[in-house]
Amino acid sequence: MGARYLVRLDDACPTMDRSRWDAVEAALRERGVSPIVAVVPANVDPDLVRGPVDGGFWERARSWAASGWVIGLHGYSHALRPSRRGLVPVNAYSEFAGLAEEEQRRRIREGVAALAAEGLEPAVWVAPAHGFDSLTLAALAGESPIRIVSDGFARRAVLRGGFVWLPQQLWRPRKMGGGLWTICLHPNTLSEPAVGKLARFIDENREAFAHPLEAARGAAPYGPADAAHERVFAAALALKKAVGAAARVAKGKMR
Ligand SMILES: [Zn+2]
Repeated sequence: MGARYLVRLDDACPTMDRSRWDAVEAALRERGVSPIVAVVPANVDPDLVRGPVDGGFWERARSWAASGWVIGLHGYSHALRPSRRGLVPVNAYSEFAGLAEEEQRRRIREGVAALAAEGLEPAVWVAPAHGFDSLTLAALAGESPIRIVSDGFARRAVLRGGFVWLPQQLWRPRKMGGGLWTICLHPNTLSEPAVGKLARFIDENREAFAHPLEAARGAAPYGPADAAHERVFAAALALKKAVGAAARVAKGKMR
């Protein structure tokens, strides 16, 4: 079987860049693709303040849910701070990783309550900056209805520790040879050409785009082959990041 793709849109909140989100939303709606949309319940991250507070934001989020988009709980406040790496080793900063269990529970509980107050029930956990640990999973199990995690580098949906993990390994559309791939996009900073590229990629691969909940239903028990694949992918990603950082330094020196 060929590759299948999911789309995830990060950083939805009342101060998002509306015109950029409009463009991404239109591209997906015109093609009938339902993404995971990661909503920040109570944003305090200045990096996500891209415009004035949109009084129509929560109504818009309800319209996403009504049309089959899957609501993700994107942390609580998106307050990132330096932290140790959590279960998915991507960044050395996070909102959740390393916090005490009671504090993690409070953030999950209040995040779920804030969304419920707006008529939204999140189905998926989307950790800000990929940062979360086993205490976060315990907090989700105890304080939320969420049983799906959008993260990790497996090549398929896996059942692990009481959660379905939908792997998230791409940050731009890219043709893959097989497996399940989530393309994570940040509409706040997505250029017009990047939206055009997304639209073309969907047009060329429309049948390969799945609904996130349908993909979750196909989850298989996590095994040694999944773990091996994740290790290799994480190492390749770390290498790519290091090479990118070195290239940026070299470029800076040349100027
Ligand atoms: Zn985020």
